[in-house]
Amino acid sequence: MLFTEAAKTGIAFILAAALLGGGFANPARAQGLEGLLNGAFQYFALDNLSDTQEAAYGRRIHEQLVRQGKVRLSRDRRLTARVANIGRRLARTSGRPNLPYRFFVVNDRSVNAFTTMGGYVYVNAGLAKGVRSDAELAGVMAHEIGHLVARHAINQMRQAAVTQGIAGALGQNDNLLVGLGVSLYQRGYSRDDEYEADALGVRNLARAGYPANGLPDFLRRLQGGGGSAEFLSTHPASANRVQRLEEIIRTEGLPTRRR
Ligand SMILES: [Zn+2]
Repeated sequence: MLFTEAAKTGIAFILAAALLGGGFANPARAQGLEGLLNGAFQYFALDNLSDTQEAAYGRRIHEQLVRQGKVRLSRDRRLTARVANIGRRLARTSGRPNLPYRFFVVNDRSVNAFTTMGGYVYVNAGLAKGVRSDAELAGVMAHEIGHLVARHAINQMRQAAVTQGIAGALGQNDNLLVGLGVSLYQRGYSRDDEYEADALGVRNLARAGYPANGLPDFLRRLQGGGGSAEFLSTHPASANRVQRLEEIIRTEGLPTRRR
C-alpha cells in the first residue's frame, strides 16, 4: 500500500524525468516502458519514504527477523535498559531525532551490532557485555545510528535489488523490499558507508556528551584482541578507520573525556 500511495504522487516526477531525456533515448535497448516505469516508481518511492513509512518497514523487517529466528531478543532487562538509555540519549542529538527509535539487545555472544531502517538498532549481548565503558557502547551505537541518519539501508537495498534483477518487481510487491531488509543484518554496508557512519557517529557522541574517543578506542581494542569480533567482518575495519576518527576528533576539537 505504501508504494501505491507513493507511486501516485510519483507519476509526475517520472514523466518529467522521462521527458528530460534519460531512459527513453534508446527504445531498442530499453527493458520496455512498463519495466522502466516500475523501476522509476521504486527509485522514487525509496527516496521519498516518510519517517512513518520507513519505520513501518523497520517494524516488518523486525517481525521477520524474529519470526525466522535470525534474531533472538535478550531477556536481560538491565542490559536492555542500559542499551535503550544510551540509544535514546544519542537519538535526541542525532541528525534524525524524530525517527521512532527502537533499541534491542540480541541474545548472541558474538561481538556485533547492526541496523535496518526506520530507527531499528540491534546490539548483540556479546558486544554490550564486552565494552569497557558506556562511552564505548555509545560509540558503537552512535555509529549504528549514523547508518540510519544517512539512510544507508535504503541505498543498500536499492543496490541489492538491481543486482538481483528485481528492482522493477519491488514497486508491485513490497514483501520483496522487506525481504531485502531482512538480509541487511548479515550483509553490512559499503566501506564508504562505514566511514560516513563513523564520522556522523563520533560527532554525535560529542553532542550527546560522551567522550568522542569511545568509538576509536573500541575499534582499536577489537583489532588488537582475539575473540569472535563479527563486528569486524560486517564492518570492514582497518587501522585507517581509527586514524580517520582520530583525525576528526583532533581537527574538530571534540572532547575526549567525560564532561
Ligand atoms: Zn557500520
